[in-house]
Amino acid sequence: MKILLSNDDGYRAEGILRLRAALAPLAEVTIVAPDRNRSGASNSLTLDVPLRVFEPEPGVYYVIGTPTDCVHLAISGLFDFEHDMVISGINDGPNLGDDVLYSGTVAAAVEGRFLGLPTLALSLCTEAQSGRHFESGARVARLLLERLLERPLERALILNVNVPDVPFEQIEGFRATRLGFRHRSEQVIRAQDPRGRPVYWVGPAGPQQDAGPGTDFDAIAAGYVSVTPLQIDFTRHAALPAIASWLDGLHE
Ligand code: MN
Repeated sequence: MKILLSNDDGYRAEGILRLRAALAPLAEVTIVAPDRNRSGASNSLTLDVPLRVFEPEPGVYYVIGTPTDCVHLAISGLFDFEHDMVISGINDGPNLGDDVLYSGTVAAAVEGRFLGLPTLALSLCTEAQSGRHFESGARVARLLLERLLERPLERALILNVNVPDVPFEQIEGFRATRLGFRHRSEQVIRAQDPRGRPVYWVGPAGPQQDAGPGTDFDAIAAGYVSVTPLQIDFTRHAALPAIASWLDGLHE
């Protein structure tokens, strides 16, 4: 089995190196990841400049580009063989609720959804004072991969996995969850450059709004690994009849 690893924190990030070490006994693992931290890159493709790839060591490639560039390239021409699945992470920080919209970690997994096996996006819920237990994330990845091989799931499925940042023994278990929602983000932070011109920093994500039972937020707060099955279908099917009648007679 051939597994492609990517992330949005860059090819030298602790999370992806731990992931590689944990999965290497189970599969042939290749890393194709951005040259630097591209968190928040979402599903962006670089279309205005060519993509350059470097191989600093065998089986490790970095791309001057986004997470989506990396996986797109890796499954559409960089190699003369096919990978069976993409695993993205382990992200340094949670990807819960609306974070998924901006996440490069999730985007890398999404880009691999047409390969032979479901994709995994893994995030460790690190905070300023938490322990950075990437080894817990790596063990979770391994357990999920083993389960997937034992009991296959449908192919184009994307599993968004968040792991509490605690020692593995303190994890309570696994929960299937839905995405919660956050409140509107905090205001941007205005500052000045050395020449007195205004510059802005995008502020932190908003606090949890829907973090009730069944959500990813709730599972993490209770010490469980949260596993959310994602789908890529932006159509709001329930609104179709209302929009059809709203459009009625518009072009007489
Ligand atoms: Mn990241």
